[in-house]
Parts: sequence; C-alpha cells; structure tokens
Amino acid sequence: MRKKDGFTLIELIVVIAILGILALFLVPSFIGYAQDAKKAVCDSNLTSINRAYQATLTKLGSDEAEELLTDVMNNKDNEYFSTIPKCPDGGDYLIEAYTTEMGKTAYRVKCTIHSKTTSTIPVQITDQIQDLFTNREKYEKFNGGKAITDTQLKSNDFVRKVLKEANGGKWPILTLGNSNEYYVQPYMDTFGSDASNDIYVFATSSKSDNYWGASFIYEEASGLWYQAPDKKQTIMISGLSFNEVKEKMEKNGWVPVEPTITGEIILP
Ligand SMILES: [Zn+2]
Repeated sequence: MRKKDGFTLIELIVVIAILGILALFLVPSFIGYAQDAKKAVCDSNLTSINRAYQATLTKLGSDEAEELLTDVMNNKDNEYFSTIPKCPDGGDYLIEAYTTEMGKTAYRVKCTIHSKTTSTIPVQITDQIQDLFTNREKYEKFNGGKAITDTQLKSNDFVRKVLKEANGGKWPILTLGNSNEYYVQPYMDTFGSDASNDIYVFATSSKSDNYWGASFIYEEASGLWYQAPDKKQTIMISGLSFNEVKEKMEKNGWVPVEPTITGEIILP
C-alpha cells in the first residue's frame, strides 16, 4: 500500500466542512461573551457613578439632589473620574428617581441598554382586569354594592372606575428622572366594530380619569415602557387599537425608557 504523505483533497474538504459546522456553534457563544463583557463594564460604570454620587452627598451632608448626580455623571470639572464613564454599547445614562425603603425620593443612574428592571405593575393591572371579568362579585363593593353587568364590563370608563376604587382610589405613580408624576392606568380597546378588546397600560400626566394623552406606553410583548424622544409628546390613544398605537409610536420614534413605578395593585 502506498504511504500517504499529506491530506487528499477530499480529506481537506471534509475537515473544512467540519470546522465550518463547529464555527456555527462557536461564533454565537463568542458574541455572547463579548456582550457579557460590555454589560460588565457598563454595570461597573453605573456602580462607580452611583457610589461617587453617594460619597459626595455624604461629604457635603446634602439631601438627594438630581443636579449633583448630573454633575457626577458628566464628571464636572474632572472632579470625579479620570475619564467620563460611558456605556461600551452606546447606551445612554439616564437619571432615575426612585423611592427608598424609608419612603424617601432618591436618584440613581441607569443605562438605557443594560439596566432592565421592568416593573411588574403593568402586568398586575392587566391581571386585575382579568380578575374583575372572572370574579366580578368580588368587585361589587367598589360599585356601590351593586351587581356588575355585562354591559358595564364593556365600558372603559366603568372598568377603570371600579379598578381605581379597588386600588384605594388612586393609580400607581410613574416617575422618570425629574419631579413630574404620571398615573399608570389600563385601557381596553373597546372602540369601533373592529375592537380587539386588548388591554394595555399607559401613563398620563393628568389626574383626570378621562384624559387619553399617553406620555408613556407599556408594550407587553417586550416588557418595556416607551416615551417620545422629546419627553413631551403624547399619543391620544382613545379609539385606537394597540397596533395603531404602536404604529404611531414607531412613526414618532418613541424609545424604551426605564421609569420607576410606585404604588400597588390590589386584588380584592
Ligand atoms: Zn450600558
């Protein structure tokens, strides 16, 4: 038999094919490592900024101050860092107001890409509406003790009124980086002949129960809140299906944001 002194063409093709197949499995996990590494850098940046802010508050004996956190985040006068900490994935650092365990308003920096702490409140509101539909007698006490009819359950105004009563007469409060408060409320698409009866959750700056200008809209599929890029524009959601609302959000370039939501949803 002739002694082989190298690879045949066929052998090379087979080896290359096998390497190609292996690469298919390996490349995605390498990409995963790179993403984890960027998230780790970003998390460490956020920790550094938030710690520097807290240390400065302590040093100055100051109360929580959003302006001070802005200075720390922007490394004002190069006082806090050797270089401004930035997200390696290009995420924006936003200031978020939140309520401490002591019930005080405090501030911290979050990343629009890497900080994903979605509130469960929108999901709880949706669950509460389902609960009202299936156990309506539990909610009669929020309807002046009267039985709740099928017709009433088709009315947005009615459902929202009963729910608000069940939650102690108020909606949860959404805040994002400044002192403005928004009220987190549900909305059923019951309008028109093509009503989807979908329930969705939005937040408005108005205390009125009949104001449909949404400043924030929650997308259940992604678990994210969206806001207009100028932080001011609202979408009038009355009479729209969620798909129509989504089209408007896309057309106007609404972006995901990470608000803080306080308050609770109560199942009677
Ligand atoms: Zn980031």
